[in-house]
Amino acid sequence: MKDTLKHKGKRNQLADLVASKGIKNADVLEAIRTIPRHLFMDSGFEHHAYQDKAFPIAADQTISQPYTVAYQTELLQIKPGDKVLEIGTGSGYQTAVLLFLKAKVYTVERQLSLFKKTKLFFEKMGYRPKRFVFGDGYKGMPEEAPFDGILVTAGAPRVPKALLSQLKIGGRLVIPVGEDSQTMLLITRSSEKEFERRECGTFRFVPLLEDKN
Ligand code: SAH
Repeated sequence: MKDTLKHKGKRNQLADLVASKGIKNADVLEAIRTIPRHLFMDSGFEHHAYQDKAFPIAADQTISQPYTVAYQTELLQIKPGDKVLEIGTGSGYQTAVLLFLKAKVYTVERQLSLFKKTKLFFEKMGYRPKRFVFGDGYKGMPEEAPFDGILVTAGAPRVPKALLSQLKIGGRLVIPVGEDSQTMLLITRSSEKEFERRECGTFRFVPLLEDKN
């Protein structure tokens, strides 16, 4: 698959649509204008890539809706050089958005087939997260903590304590919490022991799977 002017045109329209839904951060919108989402999807879905919808990827997972990616990223308020942990790499599209914003990205995926596929894809495309780990996101990445931002891209039944403890003071956790549908939570660590919590709308994600081992 290639990236063509036609794709670029459709991306501009998608970014305009995402902006019309309320996303204001210019860098986030530029990421949507720039990153070739169709290359992150299976060829059967390629021509749907610039609709504002989630689509199936491997291992029964989905690539998140562009608006949702933009919304979560905007909540994180990333500055260049920030250390960001992503839970649920999936297709890698959100990872690419974080890299576009010049974050140092650490990302975790727990489906082996998807991990392998996306790892090869990152190499092919030249996307370079600091670390891409096959593992359980409930545990975060303690050896790399603390983080300026942590982004969970699957619906969590609860807020994992490990993730709270891996935030810097002033750091932010963006996490959808709930079973059938999820409330987007923005949790800011205001001091060693204090966390501020804001509810930011209702979304629908695939579940953040608990480790069965
Ligand atoms: N950011 C991705 C979203 C993929 S959907 C994208 O836009 O493509 C959510 C992803 O979270 C899936 O790939 C799923 O396999 C992964 N996931 C689910 N439970 C997990 C866990 N406990 N740890 C890490 N990843 C998990």
